[in-house]
Amino acid sequence: MSVVTCLDMEGVLTPEIWINVAEKTGIEKLKLTTRDISDYDELMTMRLGILKENGLKLEDIRQVIGSLELLEGAGDFLDSLRRRCQLIILSDTFYEFADPLIEKMNRPTLFCNNLVINADGGIDDYRLRQRDGKRKAVQALHRLNFKVIAAGDSYNDTTMLSEAEAGILFRPPQNVIDEFPHFPVTTTYEQLRAEIDKALEWIED
Ligand SMILES: [Mg+2]
Repeated sequence: MSVVTCLDMEGVLTPEIWINVAEKTGIEKLKLTTRDISDYDELMTMRLGILKENGLKLEDIRQVIGSLELLEGAGDFLDSLRRRCQLIILSDTFYEFADPLIEKMNRPTLFCNNLVINADGGIDDYRLRQRDGKRKAVQALHRLNFKVIAAGDSYNDTTMLSEAEAGILFRPPQNVIDEFPHFPVTTTYEQLRAEIDKALEWIED
């Protein structure tokens, strides 16, 4: 089978991690996202600073993440899709955060980033595996002679969606719909699956 589906994680299969950490810790500033602060390094440096100020360690964040469930229907959607084609989760999150959620998805392949954890279990820093990693993963799959279908919900997915043979938006904010009108917009897993099946059909033809 020569088609791989690449899915974003947060907002497509799981809730937004930082928003839930903000809600469960009551720290409002952790609700800011790349929509508020467009520079990712500035945003992450601020988040890690807030965690340190509040004495929050990796284990505290993992407990919050461990209490999250997949979005309703996501598990069945993944199980069914995996019977039809291979899939990879491409995320901007960190392996140390994602693990409890990946377990709930029956451990699909995940390409994301790493945190730098100190001896006390505090989070000192983060390491991007590479810049624009989602787009580069699709380019690499193309070099391996795979065709790619990609789905994501937000701005940071649009380079991956553009690079793929077929790009699909899932529950995107209005500004992304307006700026990228050529991508089909889906709001349920049934619709998303229908768009993926449609793409599989013409790609495999
Ligand atoms: Mg997302």
